[in-house]
Amino acid sequence: MIGIMGAMPEEIRHLIPHIQNVRQQESGMRVYYQGTLLGTPVVLVFSRIGKVAAATTATNLILEYGVEEIIFTGVAGALHPDLRIGDVVVGRHLYQHDMDATPIMSRFEIPLLGRHFFETAPAQTDRALAAAKRFFEGMNQYVSEQEKARFHIAKPEIVLGDIASGDVFVSAHAHKTDIQESLPSVQCVEMEGAAVAQVCYEFGIPCTVIRTISDAANESSELDFPRFIETIASNYSEGIVLEWFRQYNGLQ
Ligand code: SAH
Repeated sequence: MIGIMGAMPEEIRHLIPHIQNVRQQESGMRVYYQGTLLGTPVVLVFSRIGKVAAATTATNLILEYGVEEIIFTGVAGALHPDLRIGDVVVGRHLYQHDMDATPIMSRFEIPLLGRHFFETAPAQTDRALAAAKRFFEGMNQYVSEQEKARFHIAKPEIVLGDIASGDVFVSAHAHKTDIQESLPSVQCVEMEGAAVAQVCYEFGIPCTVIRTISDAANESSELDFPRFIETIASNYSEGIVLEWFRQYNGLQ
């Protein structure tokens, strides 16, 4: 059984109709959609936003549904200047940029775990990168030329890189700069990935975080983020997750 999570309804909306023999269960203010996706048993859930929401949902997926692996799909704000709206980042190291127990510990250190980030395994990142590549090759099935033009998406890139999560929507230049300077390897910011990665690490299961850039984590995020979420975030999640399962099944 594989768990699929998105932090916003738009990030999972188009996947629901692809689940066969779907059973819907409500628990702890979440709706879990259980069934099969391209033949593989799955549970799909909208986790709600932020690290606590994502961590409790991931824990529930593991304990209640016995998932052996979790895929998180969603949007993020770009930190790296080369990233554009519509690019995809596959998470390699996941940091919690708001974790700060200094002076007792070093900045970003996760208490008691003695680490500053959670690492995703090559088997997971390879599959996610391949899925994103296939998605872009057949992107026109999911995103129209008009929508691409609207967001200036021409040749979207796929990056394997580090992601930082925190309970903040980053839209202020000063905050963006602080994260960039203190965590220079980080490509983008979001609010859930490293929380899911911590839960998966603690329970010893693999985790994948795939993020599409929706905004530049600056003053224009206020406009770019809702426009991207309303129009094409669901299409990206749908396409990437379907390709992920095609890779997983070895289907062409
Ligand atoms: N009021 C908004 C809140 C969205 S929070 C709403 O409900 O419509 C932003 C979501 O997108 C989170 O799930 C986060 O993971 C991701 N995200 C996208 N851009 C981000 C940014 N610049 N900073 C932090 N999170 C971002």
